[in-house]
Amino acid sequence: MGLDVVQLTRELVAINSVSQRSNEEVSDLLETTLKGCEFEVERLEYLDNNGERKVSLVGKKGDGPNGFGLFSHSDTVPGLEGEWDPFDPVIQDGRLFGRGSCDMKGPLAATIAAGEKVNAADLQSPLFIVVTADEEISSAGARQVAEASELFNAECPKHGVIAEPTRLTPVYAHKGGGRVFVTANGRAAHTSTDKGVSANFLIAPFLAEMAALAELLKTDESFMNKEFDPPTNGFNMVLDDGGCRPNVAAAKTVCTLSFRPMPNDRSDDVIAMITETAEKYDLEVSSQKGTPFYVSPDAEIVQAGLKATGATKPGTVPFGTDAHAFKNHLQLVILGPGDIVQAHTVGEWIDIEQLSAAVGVYQRMIEMFCT
Ligand SMILES: [Zn+2]
Repeated sequence: MGLDVVQLTRELVAINSVSQRSNEEVSDLLETTLKGCEFEVERLEYLDNNGERKVSLVGKKGDGPNGFGLFSHSDTVPGLEGEWDPFDPVIQDGRLFGRGSCDMKGPLAATIAAGEKVNAADLQSPLFIVVTADEEISSAGARQVAEASELFNAECPKHGVIAEPTRLTPVYAHKGGGRVFVTANGRAAHTSTDKGVSANFLIAPFLAEMAALAELLKTDESFMNKEFDPPTNGFNMVLDDGGCRPNVAAAKTVCTLSFRPMPNDRSDDVIAMITETAEKYDLEVSSQKGTPFYVSPDAEIVQAGLKATGATKPGTVPFGTDAHAFKNHLQLVILGPGDIVQAHTVGEWIDIEQLSAAVGVYQRMIEMFCT
């Protein structure tokens, strides 16, 4: 007994598992650790688009219906090695520094430390610990677990916590992700011939309308949701003409528009407005929308989170999580140690006090739902 949450976080941070490479090594350590804590473990794998092996784990302790799950991911955003030592965890002034310390190897370690402390024999309902691959880039690991895991689907837990950093405030809603891809096809030719048709000129009038739309989205309250800070949808635009040179007419220009859909906002209208405008200028258009996450603040899982943390009121966050892959399977809340402001930065850190407090919070929730 007595798995040390700080020590485990350090070990996890020391293994580079940025999403662009395989997370096999960190998954091996997690699998061994979970098995050492009396979890039955299922391993799910796939090869990503670059041929890198990606591993997700489903750990289960105890049996029966109405289980409870703690969900994390084992990948991180890039380390930015030139600017600091991301994979050499350092403890200083009550903080643990290192890539993933906050998002979310620290929170992940806290879920395992809490899970270690319960005896299988004391559980009326099973405890699940789920660790996914590729949350930072595609959520493909979470989708694989939701669709294909035998352990998860045989006795799907009824309640769960996505352990992303929320400073231990239960979060009942987050924004989703929307993308619209608009493509202009021109004809490449050296400008000396004047035979080219520049895709950039073809798309220019559309772009001007997108600039106007950006203004509208920032000022018209019908596109906002005041439950969030900020209440706006983060509308953004990037352009790719393949790095076309000034003496060549661009053959193809792709404009990617992105925004963050919120519950009860007008995100479907946003996609429809962009699509109509693109079609007016004979441009190719396609779109995708990752739906936002929302559970009633009165839901049992949110109330349990409030009780376990002592927080008075649940909140919302502007970032996305794996929740969308699991939300049709069980009732979820987002709740974890650390502040998302520290994530994805050079010098990422987590408060050691938050980390230890999280172990207690998860233990109390396990008691509420599993014993
Ligand atoms: Zn995360």
